Amino acid sequence: MNLPFAESFKIKMVEPIRRSTREEREKWMKDANYNLFKLKSDYVFIDLLTDSGTGAMSDKQWSELMLGDESYAGARSYYNMKEAIKTILNFDYFLPTHQGRAAENVLFSVLIKEGDIIPGNSHFDTTKGHIEFRKAIALDVTIDEAKDTQIDLPFKGNHDLKKLEDAMAKHADKVPFILVTVTNNTAGGQPVSMECIKGVRAIADKYKKMVVFDSARFAENAYFIKTREKGYENKTIKEIVKEMYSYADAMTMSAKKDAIVNMGGFIATKHQDLFEKACMFNIMFEGYITYGGMSGRDMNALAVGLDEGTEFEYLETRIKQVEYLGKKLDEYGIPYQRPAGGHAIFIDAKKVLSNVPREQFPAQTLGVELYLEAGVRGVEIGAILADRDPVTRENRFPELELLRLAIPRRTYTNNHMDLVAAALKNVYDRRDAITKGFTIVKEQPIMRHFTVDLERVK
Ligand SMILES: *Cc1c(COP(=O)(O)O)cnc(C)c1O
Repeated sequence: MNLPFAESFKIKMVEPIRRSTREEREKWMKDANYNLFKLKSDYVFIDLLTDSGTGAMSDKQWSELMLGDESYAGARSYYNMKEAIKTILNFDYFLPTHQGRAAENVLFSVLIKEGDIIPGNSHFDTTKGHIEFRKAIALDVTIDEAKDTQIDLPFKGNHDLKKLEDAMAKHADKVPFILVTVTNNTAGGQPVSMECIKGVRAIADKYKKMVVFDSARFAENAYFIKTREKGYENKTIKEIVKEMYSYADAMTMSAKKDAIVNMGGFIATKHQDLFEKACMFNIMFEGYITYGGMSGRDMNALAVGLDEGTEFEYLETRIKQVEYLGKKLDEYGIPYQRPAGGHAIFIDAKKVLSNVPREQFPAQTLGVELYLEAGVRGVEIGAILADRDPVTRENRFPELELLRLAIPRRTYTNNHMDLVAAALKNVYDRRDAITKGFTIVKEQPIMRHFTVDLERVK
């Protein structure tokens, strides 16, 4: 008999979670104005809102917390982080920041000015926010296939190199750098191939531009390269990661993802001049250059997390759990962005709730229904998240309208995944009866999804 796959860890510490009744959830959801971000976490049974900062640290990471050096300047912990970034990512210069968007804020303060154009594969919401806040344009050049959830491609997060080349031919003078997001979160946690990364580098070289990696899930991306791209099957994750970053000038990192810490981030670069310019903004916005908004203990845990996060055994356990949930949904016929992503399953809400008009936010509606069904919290990746057009102020309706179920690292078991899938099936079975969604009562001008208030359409 073939042995089944099993997790490459055992559990040393647990945190109780609480079930609730449907009546309780109806009240809590209404009190939260139907915004899942506004729910108390105690009201959530299985929390798939995000995999950001919600993972379980290892015993080794926890032990490093005790060894943190909290010196203001020149802390040992800073040098631990520096060494991990040099060894694993091969960047000579880095700046700690309190999280990924802070790294974007600091780096973009140096690189982006009004009127610039930043081509990339589906800019993440905070990335787009930081670009548009500077009155620049985030130009999406992702392959068109990413917009069809039912096409199964190994590297559905790729740039369309033809679109990128055309954009450069037209706007090169306005482009400060090309962005590579690994994995492509917005398109469904879909990876970018090494071939594509090389192609982006070649175009950047032709126009003498920099390449910046938005790196939150770089290790998951490397796992997909190893398991899906020809020529990489016998390379280690760490070798693949090194090759990926050999094509980069700089990176921003949300360490809350693939460095498996609860808080933290950084900028890394190969260029001394860029580093020096970024230092000023880091000191202004984040903190002195050897801590940048992080505690010494957290820098220690981050250094270990970078190492653990780039081990094959860990990545295999993680990504197979996401796949497991995907296979359950296949059994039930529930459509999601194919193939299963690295960190999440993205349910195709337009297909599931086809009776709910786009203007009434089907993905948000599905998210509320799933919460009411079983206390499972996902997040809308659709028209609410897409914000309004900065110029016309009209609602933007992106091609994809998804409910994302992000799986925290090393946190839930496959029994939890079974419950999530069953809850979704119950909602799916009554989908035809769901005909009304939500309208917006109150919103902010940028990144409105975090704080938006909604009411049911009557
Ligand atoms: C999470 C994320 C960010 C922002 O990082 P935070 O730590 O949440 O500020 C940027 N880009 C991508 C692709 C992300 O997934």
